[in-house]
Amino acid sequence: MNTIEKFNQHVMPTYGRLDIVLDKGSKQTATDEDGKQYIDFGSGIGTNSLGYCDSDWADAICAQARSIQHTSNYFYTKVQADFAAKLCETTGYNKVFFGNSGAEANECAIKLARKYSFDKYGKDANRNIIITLVNSFHGRTLATLSATGQDVFHNYFFPFLEGFVNVEANNIDDLKAKLAENKGKVCAVMFEFVQGEGGVCPLTKEFVDAIFEQCAEKDILTIADEVQTGVGRTGAVLTSKLFGVKPNITTLAKGLAGGVPVGACLADETCCDVLTKSTHGSTFGGNPLACAGGNVVLNKVSDPEFISEINRKGELFRKLLSEIDEVEGVDGLGLMIGVRLKTKKAADVLAQCAEKGLLILTAKEKLRFLPPLNISDENIISGMKIVKEVLEK
Ligand SMILES: *Cc1c(COP(=O)(O)O)cnc(C)c1O
Repeated sequence: MNTIEKFNQHVMPTYGRLDIVLDKGSKQTATDEDGKQYIDFGSGIGTNSLGYCDSDWADAICAQARSIQHTSNYFYTKVQADFAAKLCETTGYNKVFFGNSGAEANECAIKLARKYSFDKYGKDANRNIIITLVNSFHGRTLATLSATGQDVFHNYFFPFLEGFVNVEANNIDDLKAKLAENKGKVCAVMFEFVQGEGGVCPLTKEFVDAIFEQCAEKDILTIADEVQTGVGRTGAVLTSKLFGVKPNITTLAKGLAGGVPVGACLADETCCDVLTKSTHGSTFGGNPLACAGGNVVLNKVSDPEFISEINRKGELFRKLLSEIDEVEGVDGLGLMIGVRLKTKKAADVLAQCAEKGLLILTAKEKLRFLPPLNISDENIISGMKIVKEVLEK
């Protein structure tokens, strides 16, 4: 049996996969079982933020594996303390809870927001509604699926969790209307600054300002899901800084530890002590390997020079895309790039790029690029040559 046959016989068929078996990687290039090489503009959906097997990152993970790989959260570890301190310092938050994925980071945010209102307003107030946006994506667990504002996800698994109300993105009137309809019942508004899975769709500054204004007035917590947009991806440590706002809660995952599982729920001074002893937990949360990887990522991302390079490289992508006739327009920020096409189907372009040695992503009808944050100009240019060839065929 070859790898793909063995795989399909034993792994649940929950994903649409390309017929490629990736075997190893180095920098921005992955190699398959037959030795064919691919430049990677997808980074495992933005998780390999420093590319494949970055040497500083791999050294830190290996050293940690040889030192202590895991302890339960009944103990302290230095590596988790260092990572938490560095994360709070880099992002400006007070405290963090560690999980292992974006969905878990968001689950924590949902629980935190509900308990914040419970503690302050009491059980009978039923102040537990969380407003989320139409076309959002917050994860695959039942609570985060319930939060996700896309009907396609609301099948099969009934009943979903109660207490989520959707508002149309960038529609201030709808936001105000839903807040009025649910007056005194809303504990949080949760949103992505740039909807990733929804198709790389940014919020407007006006809409973001309206969220913060309304929430401040009504003691409603703001939750930014920066699982995809955070940790340098959009050309800032956090995308909230580009919008000039400070959410009460920010969730991170994907690129945070450079390709090992991690999730983080960051809270400011208003709510960082809401989740008290025994109200939340995770066996693997704050795992030393993840923290060791995260420390390396944060060391790079907290350097302003590294961030300005992300923006310069984003501009290089945009310039090269603007030279392709089939490209209708480009959305997103920094190295989170959505490409609108005039006539071609994104899924076909993805398959043809892979054929020619370039891995890309799609989001809805757009091409999506989430390359490693330290991608070389050379690989941007080589990869974009393939994109151009495929789009102009
Ligand atoms: C990927 C993603 C999630 C879910 O993360 P998992 O690690 O797959 O659980 C949640 N929110 C956003 C914005 C994401 O992009």
